[in-house]
Amino acid sequence: MAKILIIGAGGVGAVAAHKCAQAPEIFSEIMLASRTPAKCEAVKKQVAEIEKVNIQTAAVDADNVPRLVSLIKKFKPDLLVNLALPYQDLHIMDACLETGVPYLDTANYEPPEQAHFEYSHQWAYHEKFLKKGIMAVLGCGFDPGVSNIFCAYAQKHHFDSIRNIDILDCNGGNHGKAFATNFNPEINIREVIQTVKHWQGGKWMETPAIIETGAVHFPFAYPQIGIRESYLLYHEEEESLVKNIRGLERIRFWMTFSENYLNHLRVLKNVGMTRIDEVDYEGKKIIPLKFLKSVLPEPAALAENYSGKTNIGCVIEGIKNGQHKKIYIYNICDHAECFREIRAQAISYTTGVPAMIGAMLMLTGQWQGKGVFNVEQLDPDPMMEKLEKYGLPWTLTDFPRQVYET
Ligand code: NDP
Repeated sequence: MAKILIIGAGGVGAVAAHKCAQAPEIFSEIMLASRTPAKCEAVKKQVAEIEKVNIQTAAVDADNVPRLVSLIKKFKPDLLVNLALPYQDLHIMDACLETGVPYLDTANYEPPEQAHFEYSHQWAYHEKFLKKGIMAVLGCGFDPGVSNIFCAYAQKHHFDSIRNIDILDCNGGNHGKAFATNFNPEINIREVIQTVKHWQGGKWMETPAIIETGAVHFPFAYPQIGIRESYLLYHEEEESLVKNIRGLERIRFWMTFSENYLNHLRVLKNVGMTRIDEVDYEGKKIIPLKFLKSVLPEPAALAENYSGKTNIGCVIEGIKNGQHKKIYIYNICDHAECFREIRAQAISYTTGVPAMIGAMLMLTGQWQGKGVFNVEQLDPDPMMEKLEKYGLPWTLTDFPRQVYET
């Protein structure tokens, strides 16, 4: 029986609130706190309708550490789950340290003024969490999150050493909008217009951004979806997996994008709408990307009438008992089924469910530690078992084919 405080009432936060409410034997009290109170209230109403559970809500700007600290002191949670934006990570970790509350998130810190994410900022908190005697778990969504767990599970049960990992993320769904992003538009667009890098032969190799000429892409056949053009993209789990998977020679991350999405993105970038510096607009300072975010659909608003499936998984190659071996572990998630269950779309669902399971594992002591951890440093088995139980079943098969070779 534990109290959980979820910060962020967006697409992912709403899923986590629903899924925690489905496990009252663990989460006896749930509070959802976010910047806009109306969003918390809307989730509260839905959770009451669907799960018949009464959650508490609060308004908080998580960048205001003293305010967050006083909310934490009042509610006294056993765990805080951060499902706001990457900008808030360090402020929320500071509040957890001050109050001695364990921490979990799904996306690594990114400074607002620089579109660049890396774990160094949060890894630097390791000593502080260690000294305080509490645990912080980073990147416990799907990717990062389950993708890391798939690799840790493969390392534990299927390989003596892993040489190559390809993470393949396909959204084969259709939300019916001309252009929208499946998670927070500002964070999503900052991520996908960056120069791409992947790890190969002991160093990071750079290739052009997905909207540039020369971007690396190839058609991959995703089970239950079909062939989709998959683009090499830099993703944060590559940074921690390079450290934590033994013998790794290459890791790449691939994501599917439609030509329609890429064309919109090219135009938006060309006209300056993806800029993150301030510009003058009628005497006011505005940031074009923040303005763009405000006119694009919210991720949660895409859920109704979203059709099709997502398929996210890892092709992992290495050595077992002196023999070469290659496996594919993946999950398939259906947008419409997520909507039927908890009014969510599959991207929010596949992120919010692992966040809830990670919280459950921390609260029940199946994941224990003092300091800051990426999920692949923890036991993958209870997460793999609970993914099946809470709506994200997975498949593991031999994979005799090549993914993509230059
Ligand atoms: P949304 O934009 O739908 O939700 C973000 C929520 O955070 C909003 O409710 C927003 O409030 C709130 N928020 C923003 N700033 C603050 C603040 N200062 N204080 C309190 N609340 C704040 O995004 P998503 O739900 O799609 O994504 C949430 C997080 O999950 C992001 O960090 C994203 O990167 C991550 N993610 C991780 C994935 C993974 O697989 N690991 C996949 C998808 C997402 P307001 O409504 O007022 O703006």
